[in-house]
Amino acid sequence: MKRIFIVGAGITGAVIARELAENGHKILVMDERPHIAGNCHSERDPLTGVMEHKYGPHIFHTDKKEIWNYTNRFCEMMPYVNRVKAIAGGRVYSLPVNLHTINQLFDKTLSPSEAAEFIKSLARTDIREPSSFEEQALAMVGEKIYMTFFEGYTRKQWGLDPKLLPASILKRLPLRFNYDDNYYAHPYQGIPATGYTEMVRKILEHEGIEVVLGCKFEDHNGKFDHVYYTGPIDRYFGYSEGRLEYRTLKFDTLRVKGDYQGNAVINYCDSDVPFTRITEHKYFAPWEMGSFSSSICYKEYSSQCGHEDEPYYPVRHAGYSDLLNKYIGLAKLQNGVSFVGRLGTYRYIDMDAAIAEALTAARESVSLFNCKQELPSFFIDMH
Ligand code: UDP
Repeated sequence: MKRIFIVGAGITGAVIARELAENGHKILVMDERPHIAGNCHSERDPLTGVMEHKYGPHIFHTDKKEIWNYTNRFCEMMPYVNRVKAIAGGRVYSLPVNLHTINQLFDKTLSPSEAAEFIKSLARTDIREPSSFEEQALAMVGEKIYMTFFEGYTRKQWGLDPKLLPASILKRLPLRFNYDDNYYAHPYQGIPATGYTEMVRKILEHEGIEVVLGCKFEDHNGKFDHVYYTGPIDRYFGYSEGRLEYRTLKFDTLRVKGDYQGNAVINYCDSDVPFTRITEHKYFAPWEMGSFSSSICYKEYSSQCGHEDEPYYPVRHAGYSDLLNKYIGLAKLQNGVSFVGRLGTYRYIDMDAAIAEALTAARESVSLFNCKQELPSFFIDMH
């Protein structure tokens, strides 16, 4: 039996804790916030009764049956399909860019094959290997769609010229030549019936796991065989090499009688609108929609993450890699500490990837524990 310390009670920390506890190890999980579940924390709004996604919308989606089954072990996943609308230039469009969006924006009635030809004629064929967000967008959809839906939103979301952002950010979004407006291309999608926090509580509910909330990891001085650290990697080292950049989100909360916007997510793509999107939380729980007479919404603003803010998105702009490499170097020198999760590895990963990596990390550890006295650090490629 090993004694393991896990810093962070979000999805990554909880999954590692559970897997190790089920293999007979003793786990202490701590988090400096007063709640578990990290940024997917949800709780009922006392005024409207709606389940609030306290750190913004979280929609679980995956193409891996094993990961879908894993979440269903701990909660009932209710079917939920994210159908996002976008407002741009005073009109409402369908997202992700699909046949409806193309026909709306260009005022046409194209068929799928005509639309594919049309977009091909607009796309920048001279950009063969897109190296930035902007090049990726221009090579995929051309100038008009890029300027309407992506340029302004992306500047607001990342605080940077899209020329300086990686192409990988745009690759998250599909482009479709049919009327499928499902935001995600994954076969398994859903939201826990009783919220993410309850799901994470169930994952952590094991006799081998102790959870301590509201304390800083720097203040902890117990003796452990191994540490899994899910906080920001630069913070672990006291920012000794400088601060990595993150974006944080701020929310203006609106409560209204009845309905506010009639959809879970509406993106505001114009750069002169200061927020990026409005989310109406009762629409994330269609199975309980009829029970509310009022509604709670978040107007979402993205900004540079200050020292006291919650980091949400790692900003992998053109110049981040030297600093990250310094931290990766330091992490490799650590004995008995593994860096995991979105913040621990400074990557823009979704919940399903976090669960998959946490399971891999924990399972590798278990097999090493069986044959070694000391556990070497588990390394995910952070590049
Ligand atoms: N994006 C955009 N316009 C939109 C939606 C997304 O330009 O209407 C870009 C933006 O740069 C964003 C990225 O696509 O950061 C990924 O979008 P996604 O909806 O996956 O962002 P998340 O929900 O993770 O914030």
